[in-house]
Order: sequence, then C-alpha cells, then structure tokens
Amino acid sequence: MIALRGLHSQLRPYAEYAHAIAQHFGVTPRVASVRRNWNEQQVLYERYVRAVQQGRFPSPSQPYPANAPGDSAHQFGLAWDSQVAPEYRQWWKDVRRWVGFTVYDHDAPHAELPGWRAVVM
Ligand SMILES: [Zn+2]
Repeated sequence: MIALRGLHSQLRPYAEYAHAIAQHFGVTPRVASVRRNWNEQQVLYERYVRAVQQGRFPSPSQPYPANAPGDSAHQFGLAWDSQVAPEYRQWWKDVRRWVGFTVYDHDAPHAELPGWRAVVM
C-alpha cells in the first residue's frame, strides 16, 4: 500500500495487514501521516503546546497530542496515523491492537511499534 511508504520496512507489512483486514470488511482507513522529519514534528508539537496553553486541547481544531521532536515514533518510521469514519473508530483501534500495534485511547489515529523507544535509543 503506497500510502504507507515511509514506515520502517520491517513494520510496514504489519500495517499493510491491518489495512487489508479493514478492506476485507469494507472499511478504508485514510492514512494521514507516516514518517515526519524534525521540522514537521516541531511544527505539530508547537501547535499542540499552544493549544494546551490556550485551553484549546482537546478541541476540534486540536483533537490529538503531539510529542516533542526527537521523541516521536513518526520520526523513525515506526508509527502511522490513519482515520476512519466515527462508527468504525473503536473497531479500527481493536484491529491495529490485534495485529500488535500500540494504539492509545487518547490518540485514536496513531498506531506505533510497542516499546519503540527501546529500539531507537
Ligand atoms: Zn501519530
């Protein structure tokens, strides 16, 4: 699946498997973000911090958190964000968890390699 380009080569097959399961059930998750460089992560983090400081988190304009640059699995190709229709949100969390990814309740689009920090440090 071309949208998952940027994921670590050893992780990507598992993400593709999760997407294949979704496709099998007629659900098409939209990939929103895969690998990010330092500047991209910095922009997202600053936007998140600003929202927190201004009491706008969580909100429709800032629904999800962002880690500081250097501390995001996205920077290592070890996470990807994907969105589904609201009625499938819990189901999509369950599918990705069943495949083996860590998916946090407070950041539904995000799926990452469990324990990724131990791999990159
Ligand atoms: Zn993410």
